[in-house]
Amino acid sequence: MEWETVIGLEIHAQLATKSKIFSGSATAYGAEPNTQANLVDLGYPGVLPVLNREVVRMAAKFGLAVGATVAKRSVFARKNYFYPDLPKGYQISQYELPIVQAGKLEIVLDDGARKTVGITRAHLEEDAGKSLHEDFQGFSGIDLNRAGTPLLEIVSEPDMRSAKEAVAYMKRIHTLVRYLEICDGNMQEGSFRCDANVSVRPKGQEKYGTRCELKNLNSFRFIEKAINHEVARQIDVIEGGGTIRQETRLYDPDKDETRPLRSKEEANDYRYFPDPDLLPVVIEQSFIDDVRATLPELPDQKAARFVEQHGLSPYDAGTLSASREVGDYYEAVVAALGEPHAKLAANWVMGDLSAALNKDGLEITDSRIGAAGLAALLNRIVDETISGKIAKEVFEAMWGEGQSADAIIDARGLKQITDSGAIEKVIDEVIAANPKQLGDYRSGKDKLFGFFVGQVMKVSGGKANPAQVNDLLKAKLQG
Ligand code: ADP
Ligand code: MG
Repeated sequence: MEWETVIGLEIHAQLATKSKIFSGSATAYGAEPNTQANLVDLGYPGVLPVLNREVVRMAAKFGLAVGATVAKRSVFARKNYFYPDLPKGYQISQYELPIVQAGKLEIVLDDGARKTVGITRAHLEEDAGKSLHEDFQGFSGIDLNRAGTPLLEIVSEPDMRSAKEAVAYMKRIHTLVRYLEICDGNMQEGSFRCDANVSVRPKGQEKYGTRCELKNLNSFRFIEKAINHEVARQIDVIEGGGTIRQETRLYDPDKDETRPLRSKEEANDYRYFPDPDLLPVVIEQSFIDDVRATLPELPDQKAARFVEQHGLSPYDAGTLSASREVGDYYEAVVAALGEPHAKLAANWVMGDLSAALNKDGLEITDSRIGAAGLAALLNRIVDETISGKIAKEVFEAMWGEGQSADAIIDARGLKQITDSGAIEKVIDEVIAANPKQLGDYRSGKDKLFGFFVGQVMKVSGGKANPAQVNDLLKAKLQG
């Protein structure tokens, strides 16, 4: 029997506000436990939540970017459950009337194919606190710093058909929220995380199978592994004559397995009802128009422009527009170098620069070579002061020593030899030293041309101008 995988994702993006969604406490990560929780976050009786206007603006921004309806009226609801890190006994969320409704996003798959994933809704909610187990024996610690941190929960349609598609979609959302500057996207700190809903059905069957929800997925790699693992487990259970129970499962990256956490609650277990402490959120068209005016160029638009304006392949354009910072860096290099060399700039940003950043674990904004510095180096390739190969050596030195390209080229005497007399002299030397190869070449072994080029480059310390070497060598070898 052939099986088809069905996946829907619930992504939690922590909104990058300074203060919490319903209180004035700070949201900064990493503070001493319980130093960033005030009476509202602690759930004291009699205190009242006040909505942070900024979260509404950020949610609207997201909604417009995915072509969704930004609801003119949305409602906060209480989702009731008991947990030690939720002192109020309920989480304030949105249920029947979320602020963002019915959007969509296009993803690009490995083979270049495109696919549209539906976004059912995105709603605002507060985060809960954290239970800490590691430093405690026989009891747990509670840190309420995170309580009340604003989240945008982005719920997809069950439109993904493989773990790879789910990862592509999640990466797309990750790129988007950072472009919009509504979330820092830091997955280690939990600012961007997802639950994956996974089911399988016999190929051709219309009805969806029973789904399990996978929690604790905080890296793209884990998401893919966890989903693949869960799909295999479900197929095993069904083929062994069993049935899938709707439940929440936890992924354990150390053991690469999922295990049951709890049976899945139904919505009515939560006794959702509109929060009487908060008015419905009513927004005017003028507010939506204002937000629309602040939208930056979006990733797809930027990639299309890179193809059009810089003549890049769709693949290169996609890579260079994957983050706003990389796109900005690349375009600063092109601006300094000139549009005819846009492809050269692309090769270096995606090649040597990206490798050096990876090696040192740096973001492009912390690059040891700035856009102007890289452009200055590439300019020396363009004006034929150095070859592309020597440029790699100069790049390494710039990265290590922090000096300019010109300073390194001067100090190390790397300037390309373009004086044809000097090049001829080297060629004569090489020919004189290799009489046998010369004879073979002249009697038809064309392949030896490469050998002579190599020798000339070697003797010149890599500095002879390659185009000139080619021309002069051809003439001399013919005799
Ligand atoms: P809940 O609120 O209980 O988590 P929702 O109906 O809001 O449930 O769905 C949550 C997610 O589960 C959505 O992303 C949706 O696309 C996905 N989903 C729903 N049914 C299935 C299914 N049979 N298989 C896989 N994913 C599903
Ligand atoms: Mg859910």
